[in-house]
Amino acid sequence: MSLMVLNKGAVGPLIEALMADYRVVGPQAKGPQFAFGTLTDPAQMRLDYNTTILPPKKVLQPQQERLASYSLGGKPSVEQIIEATPTVLFGIHTCDLHAVQLLDKAFSEEYPDAHYLARRDQTILVSLECLEPCDEHSFCKSMGTLTAGEGYDLHLTDLGLAYAVDVATEAGAQILSDYGSASEAGDGDVRRLNDVLGAKWPRFTYRLEFDAAELPALLSTAYDHPLWQELGDRCLACGSCTNVCPTCYCFNVYDETNMALTEGERVRRWDSCQLDEFARVAGGENFREARAARQRHRFMRKGRYIFEKFGELGCVGCGRCIRACVADINIVDGFNAIQRSA
Ligand code: SF4
Ligand code: SF4
Repeated sequence: MSLMVLNKGAVGPLIEALMADYRVVGPQAKGPQFAFGTLTDPAQMRLDYNTTILPPKKVLQPQQERLASYSLGGKPSVEQIIEATPTVLFGIHTCDLHAVQLLDKAFSEEYPDAHYLARRDQTILVSLECLEPCDEHSFCKSMGTLTAGEGYDLHLTDLGLAYAVDVATEAGAQILSDYGSASEAGDGDVRRLNDVLGAKWPRFTYRLEFDAAELPALLSTAYDHPLWQELGDRCLACGSCTNVCPTCYCFNVYDETNMALTEGERVRRWDSCQLDEFARVAGGENFREARAARQRHRFMRKGRYIFEKFGELGCVGCGRCIRACVADINIVDGFNAIQRSA
């Protein structure tokens, strides 16, 4: 829609003004790491963060949420619970933005999810262009998520003393004009923006040794690859890799009832295909009992199955699963190994 410029000194007042009417969630320091959390003070925002422990997915799909409450006493009743708050999700990197776009598809196509969609509807996304890789595990350039042309309401690029703000939606324009003090970008700002964007690409390296677009076809021939057994022998089935993943959206649903079994709540929590009991079904049968089979499933989801379902790869190259894995299992190394042996 338009390109604006927001001085860095105006970011704090913008956040403070937004906090009066919205829950503002942004990256904050958490020990030596960073985590997305609700801001209580604009000074908590750390737009210089590298990556966060958990992705911003947790704002749209909380680790635990209530779906419905029910009562069996007297006249039985069931009431749906929709928990959604007007939220500004501030400072998300483009890999995570691509992941949100994938979650939008997962929760709206086939089985629209009223809980996710209500939260998504009330969330304004302010994304941030990455000018440096998070660390050596980032492979966003290989996965085509190093930048984004859509999916945000506002998109910030650091120009040094100010941010260039790409205003993409009415909602973005509204919060910027109502709560901020941005000015229209001039020719000099546009030149500076082009210079900054042009200079960032060489700082990122391709870590896949082949074009990621080849992944679905490559994996379709790798179902019996020996790599799965090798990874399965190392994997501890802790589930960390999926819990930190911005594109994993599997969940489990539980009933939490009172002692008399007369009322309760239906809740859902994140689940992980890497846990031993994930595929256990009635009668005790487990259709993905071996860790090797579960490792294969994770790689297949990321590089093939999600693509077949939604037309996009299921991995955005954030590197979180590599950082989190206690067994040093590296998805880039895995994909490269399969390609080398093809
Ligand atoms: S599979 Fe790993 S690198 Fe890919 S999006 Fe998930 S956490 Fe990030
Ligand atoms: S983080 Fe590593 S050890 Fe844990 S389940 Fe994932 S691959 Fe296995």
